[in-house]
Amino acid sequence: MAKIFCIANQKGGVGKTTTTVNLAAGLAKLGQRVLMVDLDPQGNATMGSGIDKRKLELSVYDVLLESVSVKEACVQSAKLADAHCAYAILGANRELAGAEIEMVSLERREKRLKTALNSVVADYDFILIDCPPSLSLLTLNGLCCANGVIVPMQCEYFALEGLADLVNTIKQVHANLNKELAIIGLLRVMFDPRITLQQQVSEQLKARFDDKVFNTVIPRNVRLAEAPSYGLPGVAFDPSSKGAQAFVAFAQEMVERVQKM
Ligand code: ATP
Ligand code: MG
Repeated sequence: MAKIFCIANQKGGVGKTTTTVNLAAGLAKLGQRVLMVDLDPQGNATMGSGIDKRKLELSVYDVLLESVSVKEACVQSAKLADAHCAYAILGANRELAGAEIEMVSLERREKRLKTALNSVVADYDFILIDCPPSLSLLTLNGLCCANGVIVPMQCEYFALEGLADLVNTIKQVHANLNKELAIIGLLRVMFDPRITLQQQVSEQLKARFDDKVFNTVIPRNVRLAEAPSYGLPGVAFDPSSKGAQAFVAFAQEMVERVQKM
């Protein structure tokens, strides 16, 4: 049975998509069976996995609204297979932006993804969901099916402020919709140890959230930023880079965490 994780933070541009695709690739490298679900109409995780979002025949939109099965809508990326870190992809594109409105009138609208994923949980070890930068109905669908949330954050002054809103949302979902949901951990990303403020915020995070802060730290690394333009996660694009190595270490840390769950 797959463990399902949302990669969420309502702040934009904090590294959610980079975390999702590189963790997926890192886990695949370690021999785990992975499904990556792109729940963001921007479709960045789809493109960053080597799938052209404009050419998707079926996407997560069809799964949420047209009752197409996850199996039917999943695609594989040849680029990822060539790099020996293949994972299945349930892609997204602009069409998904309409889903938010179209779902409002539906019953059990926050549980549609959960219902759909039920049919494939036995086929994977990990299902990773890349959430949009909002606490919207789409994000809620992700949170309703997840065992846990991975929160990527930059160690900056305002990082802790946004975290309070996310923690509250997760508490509400836990109380009302999904008893399993918990924050698995805070992942420090785009970290630059030369910046004193980042070190200070990192220490604050550890003091306040203790073992909820992952041991692995993802450094700021230009290869991770370049990789999406080649339609690959950094882990596949340049495996020897510092960023790729950090994500493989994070994948290992996740495998160990899951064994304790
Ligand atoms: P959005 O909220 O728009 O969905 P996001 O939270 O998914 O954004 P990303 O798209 O992953 O964030 O990252 C934002 C930008 O930062 C991208 O250009 C990405 O390539 C870059 N980036 C992410 N992580 C790193 C890193 N560790 N080192 C260097 N650049 C990074
Ligand atoms: Mg994103």
